Amino acid sequence: MFSITEHPFLVPFDNSFELAKMKTSFDDLNKKSHYKKIYKSNRQKLYETQQKLYAHNKYSVLFIFQAMDAAGKDSTIRHVFRGVNPAGFQVSSFKQPSKRELDHDFLWRTAKELPQRGKIGIFNRSYYEETLVVRVHPEYLQSQQLPFDYKAKLTSSDSKGEPDLWQQRFRSINDHEHHLASNGTVIRKFFLNVSREEQHRRFKDRIDRPEKNWKFSASDLKESQLWDKYMEAYQDCLRSTSTPWAPWYCIPADNKPAMRATVSEIVLQTLKNLDIEYPQLDDDTTAKLQNFRSQLII
Ligand code: ATP
Ligand code: MG
Repeated sequence: MFSITEHPFLVPFDNSFELAKMKTSFDDLNKKSHYKKIYKSNRQKLYETQQKLYAHNKYSVLFIFQAMDAAGKDSTIRHVFRGVNPAGFQVSSFKQPSKRELDHDFLWRTAKELPQRGKIGIFNRSYYEETLVVRVHPEYLQSQQLPFDYKAKLTSSDSKGEPDLWQQRFRSINDHEHHLASNGTVIRKFFLNVSREEQHRRFKDRIDRPEKNWKFSASDLKESQLWDKYMEAYQDCLRSTSTPWAPWYCIPADNKPAMRATVSEIVLQTLKNLDIEYPQLDDDTTAKLQNFRSQLII
């Protein structure tokens, strides 16, 4: 197993991250069955550590998934977490914000969905969209009712030395995640790094196979045409928000089984690294248990 600072796909904490240098596919691919075996056998171990997390009831664990369309967020979540106890697990998906959500600060809607102590939570997209899709489409800020002239903040004004809106949002996010981590939420973040070619292959498949037609969306293709802008936004975002208390992992996503196995290993290791055990009873309570036992009718 690996340490948090050594994983090959960890986004470094020192601002040196370059997305273009990261691979979208694995160098030496094994057979599909090899990867399946890994994430299937990890499921049982994940279930066991989840039971401990639940009984211990002091930490919560949050996994955030971000990616371009068709990178495989949903299926990765499905395959990696298939074995967990649904009572201690929740997936929250964040799409275009509602009017009510837009009438709050940008961390409000996700804060309400954070996992309780003892539980595992997944964010399928998240507040990071506020520095990704919104950065690529700054006109979306118009509907956010911000109390300042957002257009003046889209780039930093060197004369005043003020950070631009995106730097301010990164700071809010880092502070927010730091606060959560200090209060018991363990955070790990995955960027599923698919290539544009593979994304288009998957779009083609959605068009060619009738049972997949429902998955194709014209807007996905439109966003894909803004690929370079998204990659710039992702690079700045991951570089600015990968921290020791909430690290990003940039996972090659062109091969789904390998990607799932890699995510599954990080998920399991995150839970195993927690300093948790089943609660120990004191002598008095243990003695009382024997008393209760003697009162049972069988
Ligand atoms: P799938 O396509 O697999 O169902 P998805 O996450 O792509 O999953 P969609 O309904 O296709 O879901 O798209 C959701 C869209 O909402 C994405 O394009 C995303 O960028 C957008 N979105 C999410 N958060 C925000 C936000 N805060 N502001 C504006 N758009 C957002
Ligand atoms: Mg989509």
